[in-house]
Amino acid sequence: MASRNGALARALAFFDDNGFRDRLAGLVAIRSTSQDPGHEADVRSYLDDAIRPWLERMGFTVAIHPNPRAGFGPILTAERIEDPSFKTVLTYGHGDTVRGLEDQWRARLDPWTLIEEGDRWYGRGSADNKGQHAVNLSALEAVLAERGGRLGYNIKLVLETSEERGSTGLREFVAAHAPALAADVLIASDGPRVMPEVPTIATGTRGTYHFDLVVDLRPGGVHSGHWGGLTKDPAVILAHAIGTIIDRNGRILVRDWLPRNGVPAAVRAVLDGCPVGGGGEAALIDPDWGEPGLTPAEKIYGWNSFIVLAMVSGRPENPVNAVAPNARAHCQIRYTVDTDATTFMPALRRHLDAAGFAAVKIENAGIRMPASRTDPAHPWVTWTVASMEKSIGKRVQVIPNSSGGLPGDVFVDHLGVKLIWIPHSYNGCKQHGPDEHFLKGPAREGIAAYAGIWWDLGEPGTP
Ligand SMILES: [Zn+2]
Repeated sequence: MASRNGALARALAFFDDNGFRDRLAGLVAIRSTSQDPGHEADVRSYLDDAIRPWLERMGFTVAIHPNPRAGFGPILTAERIEDPSFKTVLTYGHGDTVRGLEDQWRARLDPWTLIEEGDRWYGRGSADNKGQHAVNLSALEAVLAERGGRLGYNIKLVLETSEERGSTGLREFVAAHAPALAADVLIASDGPRVMPEVPTIATGTRGTYHFDLVVDLRPGGVHSGHWGGLTKDPAVILAHAIGTIIDRNGRILVRDWLPRNGVPAAVRAVLDGCPVGGGGEAALIDPDWGEPGLTPAEKIYGWNSFIVLAMVSGRPENPVNAVAPNARAHCQIRYTVDTDATTFMPALRRHLDAAGFAAVKIENAGIRMPASRTDPAHPWVTWTVASMEKSIGKRVQVIPNSSGGLPGDVFVDHLGVKLIWIPHSYNGCKQHGPDEHFLKGPAREGIAAYAGIWWDLGEPGTP
């Protein structure tokens, strides 16, 4: 007789017998990078040859649509409707990857060949995002087999192929197809767990806001012997201006950029005891960096941060004896839904003017990815936590924001769905650099967790 345990056992057997590894190897072998125009046919092949037949075998109706923005990758949609009166869950993934960076991978590794080493599977897209949506669909296949081809709910899928180009076109596409994509909840996977061994649910993402700070004083450099000490140095002015935005310990000084009432109580509650780290050799947590009084988890999941992504004056690779004509910094704010990004630049202008930096110009300012968040105490979140804990036998950590970028805002704004992101990777996976890899442990827990979720959605007791 079909059972929840039977579904989990099927999913885990598929994983343990290397069925999942071999499937992932096939997906990684398709060079579907969206960051290199030479691979448009590979992107198309990922949808046509890898994903479409697999979904059709599971009873989905599949369509592949052109991107509403010319020059960007197609978007696959699929649906499996058992009864319009049933609950409908939407899932999401992206079939494109960043560029291969073939010449930068460690010896013996190759971005387009899955290579197993210890607890890691190396390969481009292994973690971002092929491995993650493959885990979820493999679990669905196990549940379908156990239930004899029925689920007891409806499921829809959006698989885009321009995520690594900012999900360009996705917003317009979802807006235009909103009735067809309507669902009760979005349950999908991308990004990292809080720690490799801690199952995680993220209920949103911080937004990203970008702008340039520019000090442009003269048409060209002037001789540093004739003019140094006499005429203003744009690099020095820019450095001091940045020093008024953030202090030497990483505390943001433009206080109008920050959540007015601090970290909300519901966010603080789920982050109590939340671990942070596990990135391996990636970076260190500096306990004295950032907003004083916040825990590391609150700093990264519940607060805003300011980062100078790039900064230049003169030519560092070829300095000349001159006072530079200009200086430029490209800056980013990562922000939660507790702040209004449209107020960031007016606040910065007031702040710079008050600090005596009227000459520092703000250019190219705007939101890149809007913030989104489902209340971490929402019934869909607690339901999913309970389902996962039953399947994995471990405490699940809820975070109000993924630390990576996910296009949840698009689905919230146009479909009104609640957001349940269940990441299967970790923050040391090197997803945008050479040596990207997927960890087997979280992948195995992920397939069990999703088998449980896909099973439980067809049982009584969903929100
Ligand atoms: Zn990515």
